[in-house]
Amino acid sequence: MDCLFCKIVSGEIPSKKMFENDDVLAFYDIDPQAPFHVIVIPKAHISGANKINSENSIVVAKVFEAIAIIAKENNLENGFRVVNNCGEDGGQTVNHLHFHLLARRNLSWPPG
Ligand code: 5GP
Ligand code: ZN
Repeated sequence: MDCLFCKIVSGEIPSKKMFENDDVLAFYDIDPQAPFHVIVIPKAHISGANKINSENSIVVAKVFEAIAIIAKENNLENGFRVVNNCGEDGGQTVNHLHFHLLARRNLSWPPG
């Protein structure tokens, strides 16, 4: 399958990994939007948040378990933001479910 993040999971495309377990991979974003910007993905290919269902939703729990571990290990006690972009209007550019974990700057709300 021609999926960028599946290729990062397989190692075909290199990435700077920062967390990995059986279900989840986290790696540094190539174009960081904050001093700390990590992409957290399920290893299994799901094209986006609009394709989550009762059969596959366990991966979302696994992603958020990983996010809590990453936050603790990286001393993000001041807070962080988790973002999912879905579809064209949501600004999704890679069609493999992923969550941006952003931290170490004051993140404005509402987002632009
Ligand atoms: P989206 O716009 O789909 O929500 O997020 C895709 C993210 O993947 C973007 O923040 C982009 O910088 C990041 N990205 C795209 N290609 C690569 C890559 O080859 N390596 C890494 N580490 N990040 C990438
Ligand atoms: Zn994929």
